[in-house]
Amino acid sequence: MKINSNYHNVEEGYLFSTIAKKVNEFKAAHPDKEIIRLGIGDVTLPLPKIVVKVLVKASEEMGDAKTFKGYGEEQGYAFLRDKISDYYKTKGVTLSSDEIFVSDGAKSDLGNILDIFSVDNTVLMSDIVYPVYLDTNVMAGRKVKFFEGNAQNNFLPLPDESVDADIIYICSPCNPTGAVYDKAGLKAWVDYANKKGAIILFDSAYEAFIQDKTLPTSIYEIEGAKTCAIEICSLSKTAGFTGTRCGYTVVPMDLVFENTSLNKMWLRRQTTKFNGVSYVIQRGAEAVFTDEGYKQTRENISYYLGNAKVMMDTLGELGIWYVGGKNSPYIWLKCPGNMNSWDFFDLLLSYGVVGTPGVGFGVHGDGYFRLTAFGNRENVVKAMAIFKQVVKDLKA
Ligand SMILES: *Cc1c(COP(=O)(O)O)cnc(C)c1O
Repeated sequence: MKINSNYHNVEEGYLFSTIAKKVNEFKAAHPDKEIIRLGIGDVTLPLPKIVVKVLVKASEEMGDAKTFKGYGEEQGYAFLRDKISDYYKTKGVTLSSDEIFVSDGAKSDLGNILDIFSVDNTVLMSDIVYPVYLDTNVMAGRKVKFFEGNAQNNFLPLPDESVDADIIYICSPCNPTGAVYDKAGLKAWVDYANKKGAIILFDSAYEAFIQDKTLPTSIYEIEGAKTCAIEICSLSKTAGFTGTRCGYTVVPMDLVFENTSLNKMWLRRQTTKFNGVSYVIQRGAEAVFTDEGYKQTRENISYYLGNAKVMMDTLGELGIWYVGGKNSPYIWLKCPGNMNSWDFFDLLLSYGVVGTPGVGFGVHGDGYFRLTAFGNRENVVKAMAIFKQVVKDLKA
Protein backbone atom coordinates (compact mmCIF):
# COMPACT_ATOMS: atom_id res chain seq x y z
CA MET A 1 0.00 0.00 0.00
CA LYS A 2 1.34 3.41 -0.98
CA ILE A 3 -0.03 6.58 0.59
CA ASN A 4 -0.71 9.80 -1.30
CA SER A 5 2.72 11.29 -0.69
CA ASN A 6 1.52 14.75 -1.73
CA TYR A 7 0.22 15.02 1.84
CA HIS A 8 3.85 15.40 2.91
CA ASN A 9 3.90 18.67 0.97
CA VAL A 10 0.94 20.22 2.79
CA GLU A 11 2.22 22.77 5.27
CA GLU A 12 1.16 22.43 8.88
CA GLY A 13 -1.40 25.08 9.78
CA TYR A 14 0.58 26.78 12.53
CA LEU A 15 -1.36 30.06 12.51
CA PHE A 16 -4.33 29.37 14.77
CA SER A 17 -2.48 26.90 17.00
CA THR A 18 0.30 29.45 17.57
CA ILE A 19 -2.27 32.13 18.38
CA ALA A 20 -4.02 29.80 20.84
CA LYS A 21 -0.70 28.93 22.49
CA LYS A 22 0.30 32.59 22.89
CA VAL A 23 -3.13 33.53 24.26
CA ASN A 24 -3.05 30.67 26.77
CA GLU A 25 0.42 31.69 27.95
CA PHE A 26 -0.77 35.28 28.39
CA LYS A 27 -3.83 34.09 30.33
CA ALA A 28 -1.70 31.98 32.64
CA ALA A 29 0.57 34.96 33.37
CA HIS A 30 -2.33 37.46 33.76
CA PRO A 31 -5.29 35.46 35.10
CA ASP A 32 -7.35 38.58 35.93
CA LYS A 33 -6.91 40.38 32.63
CA GLU A 34 -9.89 40.44 30.26
CA ILE A 35 -9.11 39.20 26.74
CA ILE A 36 -11.09 40.51 23.76
CA ARG A 37 -10.97 38.48 20.57
CA LEU A 38 -11.05 40.32 17.26
CA GLY A 39 -9.80 37.28 15.40
CA ILE A 40 -13.01 35.23 15.38
CA GLY A 41 -13.51 33.68 11.94
CA ASP A 42 -16.93 32.29 12.82
CA VAL A 43 -20.34 33.91 13.17
CA THR A 44 -21.57 34.52 16.73
CA LEU A 45 -25.22 35.57 16.31
CA PRO A 46 -27.78 32.72 16.45
CA LEU A 47 -29.82 31.46 13.50
CA PRO A 48 -32.63 33.76 12.31
CA LYS A 49 -35.93 32.98 14.11
CA ILE A 50 -37.72 32.02 10.91
CA VAL A 51 -35.04 29.43 10.12
CA VAL A 52 -35.40 27.83 13.55
CA LYS A 53 -39.19 27.70 13.19
CA VAL A 54 -38.92 25.94 9.83
CA LEU A 55 -36.23 23.52 11.10
CA VAL A 56 -38.58 22.42 13.90
CA LYS A 57 -41.50 21.98 11.52
CA ALA A 58 -39.41 20.03 8.99
CA SER A 59 -38.10 17.76 11.78
CA GLU A 60 -41.68 16.96 12.75
CA GLU A 61 -42.47 16.10 9.12
CA MET A 62 -39.64 13.55 9.25
CA GLY A 63 -41.30 11.90 12.26
CA ASP A 64 -44.65 11.40 10.53
CA ALA A 65 -45.13 8.53 8.04
CA LYS A 66 -47.29 10.75 5.81
CA THR A 67 -44.57 13.40 5.33
CA PHE A 68 -41.39 11.41 5.94
CA LYS A 69 -38.63 11.86 3.33
CA GLY A 70 -35.90 9.41 2.36
CA TYR A 71 -33.21 10.16 -0.22
CA GLY A 72 -33.77 13.58 -1.73
CA GLU A 73 -33.53 14.99 -5.26
CA GLU A 74 -30.06 14.65 -6.82
CA GLN A 75 -28.95 18.29 -7.00
CA GLY A 76 -30.96 19.40 -3.97
CA TYR A 77 -34.72 19.85 -3.61
CA ALA A 78 -36.39 21.91 -6.36
CA PHE A 79 -38.07 24.10 -3.72
CA LEU A 80 -34.62 25.35 -2.66
CA ARG A 81 -32.96 25.51 -6.09
CA ASP A 82 -35.91 27.53 -7.43
CA LYS A 83 -35.53 30.01 -4.56
CA ILE A 84 -31.79 30.32 -5.25
CA SER A 85 -32.52 30.86 -8.94
CA ASP A 86 -35.00 33.63 -7.96
CA TYR A 87 -32.34 35.18 -5.71
CA TYR A 88 -29.98 35.36 -8.71
CA LYS A 89 -32.75 37.11 -10.68
CA THR A 90 -32.58 39.97 -8.16
CA LYS A 91 -28.93 40.36 -9.23
CA GLY A 92 -29.94 40.43 -12.90
CA VAL A 93 -28.52 36.92 -13.39
CA THR A 94 -30.59 34.21 -15.11
CA LEU A 95 -29.80 30.65 -14.03
CA SER A 96 -31.91 27.56 -14.53
CA SER A 97 -32.33 25.45 -11.43
CA ASP A 98 -30.34 22.58 -13.02
CA GLU A 99 -27.29 24.85 -13.01
CA ILE A 100 -27.52 24.98 -9.19
CA PHE A 101 -26.21 22.24 -6.89
CA VAL A 102 -27.05 22.30 -3.17
CA SER A 103 -24.19 21.25 -0.90
CA ASP A 104 -23.25 20.95 2.75
CA GLY A 105 -21.07 24.06 2.45
CA ALA A 106 -18.48 25.85 0.37
CA LYS A 107 -15.43 24.14 1.82
CA SER A 108 -16.48 20.65 0.67
CA ASP A 109 -17.34 21.90 -2.81
CA LEU A 110 -14.07 23.84 -3.10
CA GLY A 111 -12.23 20.61 -2.41
CA ASN A 112 -14.51 18.23 -4.34
CA ILE A 113 -14.79 20.27 -7.54
CA LEU A 114 -11.14 19.44 -8.25
CA ASP A 115 -12.26 15.85 -8.98
CA ILE A 116 -13.42 16.94 -12.44
CA PHE A 117 -10.10 18.61 -13.42
CA SER A 118 -6.88 16.97 -14.51
CA VAL A 119 -3.95 16.94 -12.11
CA ASP A 120 -1.87 18.37 -14.98
CA ASN A 121 -3.54 21.78 -14.74
CA THR A 122 -1.63 24.80 -13.45
CA VAL A 123 -3.43 26.65 -10.67
CA LEU A 124 -3.26 30.39 -10.01
CA MET A 125 -4.23 32.12 -6.78
CA SER A 126 -3.37 35.12 -4.63
CA ASP A 127 -0.46 34.60 -2.27
CA ILE A 128 -2.61 35.93 0.58
CA VAL A 129 -5.29 33.36 0.56
CA TYR A 130 -7.92 31.21 2.24
CA PRO A 131 -5.69 28.14 2.91
CA VAL A 132 -8.23 25.64 1.48
CA TYR A 133 -7.43 26.70 -2.13
CA LEU A 134 -3.76 25.94 -1.74
CA ASP A 135 -3.94 22.82 0.44
CA THR A 136 -6.53 21.00 -1.71
CA ASN A 137 -4.31 21.45 -4.78
CA VAL A 138 -1.12 20.46 -2.99
CA MET A 139 -2.88 17.28 -1.78
CA ALA A 140 -3.71 16.45 -5.39
CA GLY A 141 -0.19 17.29 -6.59
CA ARG A 142 -1.07 20.23 -8.87
CA LYS A 143 1.39 22.95 -9.74
CA VAL A 144 0.44 26.25 -8.09
CA LYS A 145 1.44 29.78 -9.15
CA PHE A 146 0.72 32.93 -7.20
CA PHE A 147 -0.19 36.51 -7.98
CA GLU A 148 0.64 39.18 -5.46
CA GLY A 149 -1.82 41.22 -3.46
CA ASN A 150 -0.22 44.35 -2.01
CA ALA A 151 -0.96 47.91 -0.91
CA GLN A 152 -0.28 49.24 -4.45
CA ASN A 153 -3.12 47.19 -5.91
CA ASN A 154 -5.27 47.53 -2.76
CA PHE A 155 -5.01 43.75 -2.40
CA LEU A 156 -7.03 43.35 -5.61
CA PRO A 157 -4.43 42.04 -8.06
CA LEU A 158 -5.31 41.93 -11.78
CA PRO A 159 -4.26 39.23 -14.28
CA ASP A 160 -0.86 39.27 -15.96
CA GLU A 161 -1.28 38.17 -19.59
CA SER A 162 2.25 36.76 -19.67
CA VAL A 163 1.36 34.16 -17.02
CA ASP A 164 -0.44 30.99 -18.14
CA ALA A 165 -2.91 29.21 -15.89
CA ASP A 166 -5.78 26.73 -16.13
CA ILE A 167 -7.60 27.04 -12.79
CA ILE A 168 -7.89 30.44 -11.12
CA TYR A 169 -9.18 31.13 -7.61
CA ILE A 170 -10.87 34.43 -6.80
CA CYS A 171 -12.50 35.29 -3.49
CA SER A 172 -14.51 38.52 -3.38
CA PRO A 173 -15.22 39.88 -0.78
CA CYS A 174 -11.93 38.32 0.20
CA ASN A 175 -11.07 36.40 3.33
CA PRO A 176 -8.63 37.53 4.82
CA THR A 177 -8.33 41.04 3.32
CA GLY A 178 -11.98 42.10 3.03
CA ALA A 179 -11.14 43.64 -0.37
CA VAL A 180 -13.91 43.49 -3.00
CA TYR A 181 -13.42 43.52 -6.79
CA ASP A 182 -15.43 46.05 -8.78
CA LYS A 183 -16.99 45.10 -12.13
CA ALA A 184 -13.95 46.25 -14.13
CA GLY A 185 -11.64 44.13 -11.96
CA LEU A 186 -13.73 40.99 -12.36
CA LYS A 187 -14.16 41.71 -16.08
CA ALA A 188 -10.37 41.68 -16.45
CA TRP A 189 -10.24 38.22 -14.83
CA VAL A 190 -13.15 36.90 -16.91
CA ASP A 191 -11.56 38.13 -20.15
CA TYR A 192 -8.21 36.65 -19.15
CA ALA A 193 -9.80 33.26 -18.31
CA ASN A 194 -11.78 33.11 -21.56
CA LYS A 195 -8.68 34.00 -23.56
CA LYS A 196 -6.54 31.36 -21.83
CA GLY A 197 -9.27 28.71 -21.89
CA ALA A 198 -9.05 28.63 -18.09
CA ILE A 199 -11.70 28.18 -15.41
CA ILE A 200 -12.33 30.59 -12.52
CA LEU A 201 -13.43 29.16 -9.19
CA PHE A 202 -15.22 32.14 -7.69
CA ASP A 203 -15.72 32.00 -3.91
CA SER A 204 -18.75 34.12 -3.12
CA ALA A 205 -19.14 33.18 0.57
CA TYR A 206 -19.36 36.84 1.64
CA GLU A 207 -21.54 38.21 -1.17
CA ALA A 208 -24.35 39.11 1.25
CA PHE A 209 -22.07 41.60 3.03
CA ILE A 210 -21.76 43.84 -0.04
CA GLN A 211 -23.58 47.13 0.58
CA ASP A 212 -22.23 49.23 -2.29
CA LYS A 213 -24.77 48.71 -5.12
CA THR A 214 -22.14 49.26 -7.82
CA LEU A 215 -20.09 46.23 -6.70
CA PRO A 216 -20.84 42.79 -8.20
CA THR A 217 -22.25 40.17 -5.78
CA SER A 218 -21.95 37.36 -8.34
CA ILE A 219 -19.37 36.77 -11.06
CA TYR A 220 -22.24 36.14 -13.48
CA GLU A 221 -23.01 39.86 -13.37
CA ILE A 222 -19.93 40.08 -15.61
CA GLU A 223 -20.38 39.45 -19.34
CA GLY A 224 -18.62 36.27 -20.46
CA ALA A 225 -18.50 34.67 -17.00
CA LYS A 226 -20.82 31.78 -17.88
CA THR A 227 -18.22 30.29 -20.21
CA CYS A 228 -15.39 30.43 -17.66
CA ALA A 229 -16.63 30.49 -14.06
CA ILE A 230 -18.00 28.23 -11.37
CA GLU A 231 -19.44 30.13 -8.39
CA ILE A 232 -19.30 28.64 -4.92
CA CYS A 233 -21.65 30.04 -2.28
CA SER A 234 -22.50 29.31 1.30
CA LEU A 235 -25.11 30.23 3.88
CA SER A 236 -22.44 30.01 6.60
CA LYS A 237 -21.68 33.74 6.81
CA THR A 238 -24.91 34.90 5.11
CA ALA A 239 -27.27 33.28 7.59
CA GLY A 240 -25.18 31.90 10.46
CA PHE A 241 -25.09 28.36 9.01
CA THR A 242 -21.49 27.53 10.00
CA GLY A 243 -22.77 24.80 12.32
CA THR A 244 -25.95 24.02 10.37
CA ARG A 245 -24.19 23.39 7.00
CA CYS A 246 -25.67 24.38 3.67
CA GLY A 247 -24.26 25.98 0.53
CA TYR A 248 -24.70 25.91 -3.22
CA THR A 249 -22.48 25.79 -6.28
CA VAL A 250 -23.35 27.11 -9.72
CA VAL A 251 -22.05 25.22 -12.76
CA PRO A 252 -23.48 26.90 -15.89
CA MET A 253 -24.50 24.83 -18.93
CA ASP A 254 -22.22 27.03 -21.07
CA LEU A 255 -19.11 25.61 -19.39
CA VAL A 256 -17.84 23.25 -22.07
CA PHE A 257 -14.19 22.13 -22.17
CA GLU A 258 -12.83 19.48 -24.55
CA ASN A 259 -16.40 19.03 -25.87
CA THR A 260 -17.50 18.04 -22.39
CA SER A 261 -20.10 19.75 -20.20
CA LEU A 262 -18.72 20.52 -16.75
CA ASN A 263 -22.29 20.60 -15.46
CA LYS A 264 -22.77 16.95 -16.53
CA MET A 265 -19.41 15.99 -15.05
CA TRP A 266 -20.23 17.64 -11.71
CA LEU A 267 -23.65 15.97 -11.65
CA ARG A 268 -21.98 12.62 -12.27
CA ARG A 269 -19.41 13.30 -9.55
CA GLN A 270 -22.00 14.39 -7.00
CA THR A 271 -24.45 11.55 -7.69
CA THR A 272 -21.58 9.09 -7.30
CA LYS A 273 -19.93 10.45 -4.17
CA PHE A 274 -22.55 12.62 -2.40
CA ASN A 275 -26.10 11.84 -1.31
CA GLY A 276 -27.28 15.35 -0.63
CA VAL A 277 -28.05 17.70 2.25
CA SER A 278 -30.70 16.65 4.76
CA TYR A 279 -34.31 17.59 4.00
CA VAL A 280 -34.59 19.46 7.29
CA ILE A 281 -31.57 21.66 6.56
CA GLN A 282 -32.71 22.36 2.99
CA ARG A 283 -36.04 23.60 4.38
CA GLY A 284 -34.09 25.84 6.77
CA ALA A 285 -32.04 27.12 3.83
CA GLU A 286 -35.22 27.77 1.85
CA ALA A 287 -36.43 30.01 4.70
CA VAL A 288 -33.30 32.17 4.29
CA PHE A 289 -34.51 33.08 0.79
CA THR A 290 -38.02 34.17 1.86
CA ASP A 291 -38.74 37.89 2.40
CA GLU A 292 -38.75 37.43 6.17
CA GLY A 293 -35.57 35.31 6.04
CA TYR A 294 -33.83 37.92 3.93
CA LYS A 295 -34.82 40.66 6.39
CA GLN A 296 -33.61 38.70 9.44
CA THR A 297 -30.30 37.62 7.89
CA ARG A 298 -29.56 41.17 6.70
CA GLU A 299 -30.22 42.47 10.23
CA ASN A 300 -27.47 40.19 11.53
CA ILE A 301 -25.12 41.26 8.73
CA SER A 302 -25.83 44.92 9.56
CA TYR A 303 -24.86 44.24 13.15
CA TYR A 304 -21.50 42.78 12.08
CA LEU A 305 -20.92 45.64 9.64
CA GLY A 306 -21.71 48.04 12.49
CA ASN A 307 -18.80 46.46 14.37
CA ALA A 308 -16.62 46.91 11.29
CA LYS A 309 -17.65 50.59 11.19
CA VAL A 310 -16.41 51.12 14.76
CA MET A 311 -13.06 49.62 13.72
CA MET A 312 -12.85 51.65 10.51
CA ASP A 313 -13.61 54.88 12.38
CA THR A 314 -10.81 54.16 14.84
CA LEU A 315 -8.30 53.28 12.10
CA GLY A 316 -9.32 56.39 10.15
CA GLU A 317 -8.81 58.58 13.22
CA LEU A 318 -5.38 57.06 13.78
CA GLY A 319 -4.42 57.43 10.11
CA ILE A 320 -3.77 53.69 9.75
CA TRP A 321 -3.95 52.25 6.20
CA TYR A 322 -6.51 49.46 5.71
CA VAL A 323 -8.80 47.76 3.21
CA GLY A 324 -12.12 45.97 3.80
CA GLY A 325 -14.75 46.56 6.42
CA LYS A 326 -17.37 48.41 4.42
CA ASN A 327 -18.62 45.46 2.37
CA SER A 328 -17.08 42.63 4.35
CA PRO A 329 -16.66 41.38 7.93
CA TYR A 330 -12.84 41.60 7.59
CA ILE A 331 -10.46 44.51 7.96
CA TRP A 332 -6.88 44.21 6.76
CA LEU A 333 -4.64 46.89 8.21
CA LYS A 334 -1.03 47.95 7.98
CA CYS A 335 0.63 47.35 11.36
CA PRO A 336 1.34 50.68 13.07
CA GLY A 337 4.97 51.76 13.45
CA ASN A 338 6.01 49.49 10.52
CA MET A 339 5.93 46.51 12.87
CA ASN A 340 5.88 43.00 11.48
CA SER A 341 2.70 40.95 11.95
CA TRP A 342 3.80 38.81 14.90
CA ASP A 343 5.44 41.69 16.81
CA PHE A 344 2.22 43.67 16.51
CA PHE A 345 0.22 40.60 17.56
CA ASP A 346 2.37 40.26 20.71
CA LEU A 347 2.09 43.98 21.50
CA LEU A 348 -1.71 44.01 21.12
CA LEU A 349 -2.01 40.81 23.16
CA SER A 350 -0.02 42.44 25.99
CA TYR A 351 -2.97 44.89 26.25
CA GLY A 352 -5.50 42.01 26.13
CA VAL A 353 -6.68 42.21 22.50
CA VAL A 354 -6.31 39.32 20.03
CA GLY A 355 -6.27 39.63 16.23
CA THR A 356 -4.74 37.61 13.39
CA PRO A 357 -1.23 38.22 11.99
CA GLY A 358 -1.39 38.83 8.22
CA VAL A 359 1.76 36.78 7.62
CA GLY A 360 -0.23 33.69 8.63
CA PHE A 361 -2.04 33.90 5.27
CA GLY A 362 1.10 34.20 3.09
CA VAL A 363 4.55 35.81 3.06
CA HIS A 364 3.32 39.03 1.48
CA GLY A 365 0.88 39.39 4.38
CA ASP A 366 3.77 40.30 6.69
CA GLY A 367 3.41 43.78 8.14
CA TYR A 368 -0.39 43.42 7.98
CA PHE A 369 -3.02 42.37 10.47
CA ARG A 370 -6.59 41.04 10.19
CA LEU A 371 -9.47 42.12 12.41
CA THR A 372 -12.86 40.41 12.17
CA ALA A 373 -16.26 41.95 12.89
CA PHE A 374 -17.98 38.78 14.18
CA GLY A 375 -17.71 39.73 17.87
CA ASN A 376 -20.13 41.69 20.04
CA ARG A 377 -20.41 45.47 19.88
CA GLU A 378 -19.49 46.22 23.47
CA ASN A 379 -16.24 44.27 23.12
CA VAL A 380 -15.41 45.90 19.80
CA VAL A 381 -15.85 49.37 21.32
CA LYS A 382 -13.67 48.43 24.29
CA ALA A 383 -11.04 46.88 22.03
CA MET A 384 -10.86 49.97 19.85
CA ALA A 385 -10.26 52.22 22.89
CA ILE A 386 -7.40 49.87 23.81
CA PHE A 387 -6.14 49.93 20.21
CA LYS A 388 -5.90 53.75 20.39
CA GLN A 389 -3.90 53.46 23.61
CA VAL A 390 -1.52 50.93 22.01
CA VAL A 391 -0.80 53.27 19.10
CA LYS A 392 -0.38 56.25 21.45
CA ASP A 393 2.08 54.31 23.64
CA LEU A 394 3.92 53.14 20.51
CA LYS A 395 4.47 56.76 19.43
CA ALA A 396 5.56 57.87 22.91
C1 LIG B 1 -16.18 30.78 5.73
C2 LIG B 1 -15.73 30.65 4.32
C3 LIG B 1 -16.36 29.76 3.45
C4 LIG B 1 -17.59 28.98 3.90
O1 LIG B 1 -17.30 27.66 4.11
P1 LIG B 1 -18.45 26.65 4.58
O2 LIG B 1 -17.85 25.32 4.35
O3 LIG B 1 -19.63 26.90 3.69
O4 LIG B 1 -18.76 26.93 6.01
C5 LIG B 1 -15.92 29.68 2.14
N1 LIG B 1 -14.90 30.44 1.72
C6 LIG B 1 -14.28 31.33 2.52
C7 LIG B 1 -13.20 32.18 1.96
C8 LIG B 1 -14.68 31.44 3.85
O5 LIG B 1 -14.05 32.32 4.65
